[in-house]
Amino acid sequence: MYVILLGPPGAGKGTQAVQTAERTGLLHLSTGDMFRENLRNGTELGNLAKTYMDQGELVPDDVTIRMLLERIGRDDARAGCLFDGFPRTVEQAKALDEALSEQGNEIAVTILIDVSNEEITRRLGGRVSCATCGSVFHEIFNPPNAGSPCCGTVKMIQRDDDKPEAIANRLQVYADQTEPLVDYYNQTGKLASVNGEQSSQAVGEDLLTALQAVSS
Ligand code: AMP
Repeated sequence: MYVILLGPPGAGKGTQAVQTAERTGLLHLSTGDMFRENLRNGTELGNLAKTYMDQGELVPDDVTIRMLLERIGRDDARAGCLFDGFPRTVEQAKALDEALSEQGNEIAVTILIDVSNEEITRRLGGRVSCATCGSVFHEIFNPPNAGSPCCGTVKMIQRDDDKPEAIANRLQVYADQTEPLVDYYNQTGKLASVNGEQSSQAVGEDLLTALQAVSS
């Protein structure tokens, strides 16, 4: 089963995708994680992506589509996957539809995690991550040093794309380039929506319910 999680930056897609993948056994594929891994490994793709990521811009479609199609062509993706952060443009969505249809597959459902702009700005402003493992915390909602320090250290970093100018840009980019996907998937009758302003646990339950509705 191929499933897309859609939503603005900071909607909780990453956290929900990891948990939903664990609960359903679906393979979690995040294009943001793939770019960051390339960056850590110092690849050409990583260095190219960084120039866009730091400004909250999208990495060009041709590069992103090529990377994603290569990934879903591998054996471990044959049984399906949970897309997190892809597609982000109509062109990416069309490329994904085409590639899946060539394999005799299709998107089962696209689930929108719905969160208002005001809430997103509040959430992204305090987001930090562990300098060692990359785990994400929030200065207000999920403080890094509330329990035991992550990786034995309290050193936290703010992603360049979580700085204020980049946040404003990412929201604009979402409205201009990614939000049209809500209509795109609505037209195929495969769009579901969950309220992303509930507790993280309630969002997770609603996601499972939406998935069960299409798998039964
Ligand atoms: P994310 O972790 O999903 O918020 O992604 C971080 C950054 O990676 C984004 O702000 C973009 O610069 C880039 N990125 C991730 N996924 C895509 C995509 N599907 N298309 C273009 N750029 C992407």
